[in-house]
Amino acid sequence: MIELTEVTKSYPGGVTALDRVSLHIGAGEMVAVVGPSGSGKSTVLHLIGTLDRPTSGTVRIDGHDVAGLPDRRLAALRAARIGFVFQQFHLAAGTSALDNVADGLLYQGVRRPERRRRAAVALDRVGLGHRLRHDPHELSGGERQRVAIARAVVGRPPLLLADEPTGALDSRSGEEVMALLTELNADGTTVVIITHDREIAESVPRRIRMRDGRVLTGEVVR
Ligand code: ADP
Repeated sequence: MIELTEVTKSYPGGVTALDRVSLHIGAGEMVAVVGPSGSGKSTVLHLIGTLDRPTSGTVRIDGHDVAGLPDRRLAALRAARIGFVFQQFHLAAGTSALDNVADGLLYQGVRRPERRRRAAVALDRVGLGHRLRHDPHELSGGERQRVAIARAVVGRPPLLLADEPTGALDSRSGEEVMALLTELNADGTTVVIITHDREIAESVPRRIRMRDGRVLTGEVVR
């Protein structure tokens, strides 16, 4: 599903965010990316999410070499194959939960009534079938994150990327969000999560540890 080979990412001014990183994440895995602030976690997630391109090395996602795809093809790959969840939810204010989730299908050529029908199914799946008409500000943090997850998976992408998805939540809501991500993984979605939370990292089957732009080890707990 995801293969990085000798990937380096440098920024102008001499910052090397990633230094010859190689890693492989198979379809159906659930992985936590952990490491201190500035170690390169977000950069890795951006490259996996095709939001950015490496300075050198190869990024292959779902069989596609990212370097070989023009921007438009890359955007299409991203829209159809990758869901994103962020710490701060990034929901549209003044827009119902239903329409926030329906907007997750905007780039797939699905008509509005069908977008809304699928959004209602996705919200039901995350336990918010009774909150369709609520505006994000009328929802708790945990509920907002569940709306964001529904939006990320409404198009049924095989890959879900989450950058500190529990970082803004109390521990109980965080646990609910993790349970939901685990459930999506059990249904076949490949899940990659950045987390600072040790307990959450330990609850995930595999960890990729980063330091100073390099991967330390990937471990599998049996
Ligand atoms: P983490 O997510 O582990 O906190 P990042 O991937 O955000 O780490 O950052 C890795 C390094 O790259 C840091 O030193 C950071 O300052 C630097 N960096 C990240 N983005 C940029 C950018 N757009 N321009 C310059 N430096 C950047």
